[in-house]
Amino acid sequence: MSIDSAKAQQERISPTQHAQAVREAFSAGVTRPLEWRREQLHALDRLLAENGPAIEQAVHADLGKPLLEAFLTEIRSVRTEIAETIKHLSRWTRPRSVKVPFALKPGSGQIVREPLGTVLVIAPWNYPVHLLFMPVVAAIAAGNAVVMKPSEVAPATAALAEELVPKYLDNRAIRVVTGAVEETTELLELPWDHIFYTGNGAVGRIVMAAASKHLTPVTLELGGKSPVWVDSSADVDATAHWLAWGKFLNAGQTCVAPDYVLTTADVAPRLVEALRREIEALYGADPKVSRDFGRVVNTRHLDRLTALLPQSGTAAIGGQFDRDDRYLAPTVLADASLSDPVMQDEIFGPILPIITVSGHDEAIRIINDRDKPLALYIFAKSRDVQEAFVERTSSGGVGINAPMLQLGVSSLPFGGVGGSGMGAYHGEHGIRTFSHERAVLVKKGRSRLMVLGQPPFTARKERLLRGRAPKKDGSNS
Ligand code: NAD
Repeated sequence: MSIDSAKAQQERISPTQHAQAVREAFSAGVTRPLEWRREQLHALDRLLAENGPAIEQAVHADLGKPLLEAFLTEIRSVRTEIAETIKHLSRWTRPRSVKVPFALKPGSGQIVREPLGTVLVIAPWNYPVHLLFMPVVAAIAAGNAVVMKPSEVAPATAALAEELVPKYLDNRAIRVVTGAVEETTELLELPWDHIFYTGNGAVGRIVMAAASKHLTPVTLELGGKSPVWVDSSADVDATAHWLAWGKFLNAGQTCVAPDYVLTTADVAPRLVEALRREIEALYGADPKVSRDFGRVVNTRHLDRLTALLPQSGTAAIGGQFDRDDRYLAPTVLADASLSDPVMQDEIFGPILPIITVSGHDEAIRIINDRDKPLALYIFAKSRDVQEAFVERTSSGGVGINAPMLQLGVSSLPFGGVGGSGMGAYHGEHGIRTFSHERAVLVKKGRSRLMVLGQPPFTARKERLLRGRAPKKDGSNS
């Protein structure tokens, strides 16, 4: 180790020290004023606006993400959320009056949204900027101090966040801690007021177990297998258009990507052919040379994905891969079955299995036999079929006739249920997640009605309150 790097290591502030610093800032009241929150949101917006090319390059280095896709899904999406949050900040954070019962009048009740305190945001690698900053927008807007931990699996983006955040945001109350399991474990041992974790369910369990020691509330934004139903009433060409985009965006590494398709035997061959056309329309005849198709994040994940390809027979579409280039072609597996390896866990890569079933009742049974998914997609013109899925299944969200667009509506909560997580954010839902809704009752003067329920309990009060006189022995029955 050189003298310089040893010195840098010694000077490195530990995760615990970062946490203590932001805790002190919160205790000192730094984060509470609306003006501070607004300034920090504007500063985060400037960070994204002024460093667009560097951010796009970092995400490209980590994920081979096309630059324009990085702009849209990592930068513009967060800037839109910031603009929306600034616009509504006063309304979303101001106290709300509630009616008080007649007996308690004169008086008034209020729900006051107060910041939780010091929050930890742990992000994954697949949208390494978006999933780091989106929760931070809500946490700051709600008046909290924040430590954010980017994913070590997207190292270029993590390094850039570590460099940029202190330049733009108030370092007293907003910090980045980089690192992997060791650093995250150290952070998880601390007493946070909220932990917001996005990632896989196995680590989600570790996060929740650690949080339970301090009774810290958690939001777990997890994943899982998001199913698609393609009905015989669906427009097959439009369905294939949406599925090819939703599945192969970011090389299938999107938490709400369609994971597998359930459909009937008459629809399946038409769907495969339509998917072939749509994939070519998006990425050309050879997606490997397309600048618009991303890469699998690392060789460990590539090996995991290629092991899911059929050992015998070939994929209906794609299936080619190049380990050195972390490339796996957009792949469609027709005639897949529920017992195939590809159907055991979330795929999280560019493989789309199609399973044929007898009809939508069987599809609903299959969906309900598994963990509740993060997203469920229904392609159907039939309102009855759409309603059958919405009424008889459960999932974090539902997209009808298009995947993933539900995330673009900030007034819709984004989060999982059951195996796909707990809690939600986006827009005002994020403010709720990072606030405590405090009950405040202000009483004015005495209440003649309330006196009736206070000692001494006279026969008159008894009569008035119960509507009948007590028995001679003093009993009521
Ligand atoms: P990851 O490997 O980057 O892990 C997520 C975070 O957990 C990282 O910051 C990492 O440092 C930390 N971590 C990893 N191991 C840990 C341990 N043993 N102890 C403590 N912390 C640890 O990302 P991932 O989990 O591979 O992300 C992919 C998963 O996330 C998929 O299942 C996907 O569906 C899900 N996801 C969900 C959402 C959502 O919004 N619901 C969004 C994106 C991804």
